[in-house]
Amino acid sequence: MSERKVRPVREDDGRAPEGLTLSRRRFLQGIGATAGIVAAGAVPAVIAALPSATTASGGVGIASAAPLAEKVNPLEPILEEDQPVNYPGKPVYYATKPAGDEKWAMVIDVKACVGCRKCAYACVKENNIGRNSGFTYIQLIQMEPGGVDLESGTTDYKEGGSPDHWYLPVQCMQCAKPTCVYGCPVKATWKEPDGIVVIDYDKCIACRNCMITCPYFARHFNWVEPEVPKAEINPRVPLEDKAGVVEKCTFCIQRTREGGTTACTEACPVGARTFGNLNDPNSDVSILLKTRRAFRLKEELGTGPMIWYVG
Ligand code: SF4
Ligand code: SF4
Repeated sequence: MSERKVRPVREDDGRAPEGLTLSRRRFLQGIGATAGIVAAGAVPAVIAALPSATTASGGVGIASAAPLAEKVNPLEPILEEDQPVNYPGKPVYYATKPAGDEKWAMVIDVKACVGCRKCAYACVKENNIGRNSGFTYIQLIQMEPGGVDLESGTTDYKEGGSPDHWYLPVQCMQCAKPTCVYGCPVKATWKEPDGIVVIDYDKCIACRNCMITCPYFARHFNWVEPEVPKAEINPRVPLEDKAGVVEKCTFCIQRTREGGTTACTEACPVGARTFGNLNDPNSDVSILLKTRRAFRLKEELGTGPMIWYVG
């Protein structure tokens, strides 16, 4: 495996942006709602290694993937299913066009994650998430040792995290088969050629069908006009357009289309997040998926999440 690149970490205090409000109950009920079983022997190492390790309890919502290294060509089945969906032929208005033939993906190391939430706070700032909107694109679930029961996890834990728990970061999975896109009656949301699922805020009619059809509860409705302190507005990301529409993570399309990485990846102080191009067999994400045991959330639904977890 190639040596991991050292990424510059943002120089801020990693605290919640001032005025940020959060509503958490609905998310945890929803993300844990789908039944799923972690197959024996496929429990992530971090979970199995923790004290009181047991097999998974019911209602997990996590499905395991066989180690990709066991497959003949580990990347082929992933890339095959990753075609554009409802793409109008030009990029969404707040993005530049895809640079080439990239297929963006993320790998999150749950063994490394310490639950500090710096990724979530960096995301709020980067993406002009209204401090009064009551959501973040990234949720950090604090999990009990030895267990994978999402419904008994909590997102409302003490600032900084605890070494006695493990943490599961959850956000839009940029699904290869995005059920949110299929559910939109006006094609205001689509999947672009590089796999990023976007929303055209001008076209969104606020019916919220996509929120219902997303199994990861990754879409959020802005009931209020998003408020961002003037000095913290990111001019590269829409703000006013987001009043009364649905929004979500875009893998920081404004950065990644120009060769950068996502704000969450950059902010993580322990390198738990790796973002990159699956079409490049030598990228860090490709290498991680070829060499580490990986699992995806709710894989049994067939949505093809482009975020994998290793641990
Ligand atoms: Fe759509 Fe939800 Fe998949 Fe994101 S996680 S692409 S919002 S179905
Ligand atoms: Fe902190 Fe990184 Fe985990 Fe986010 S992924 S909570 S930044 S350790």
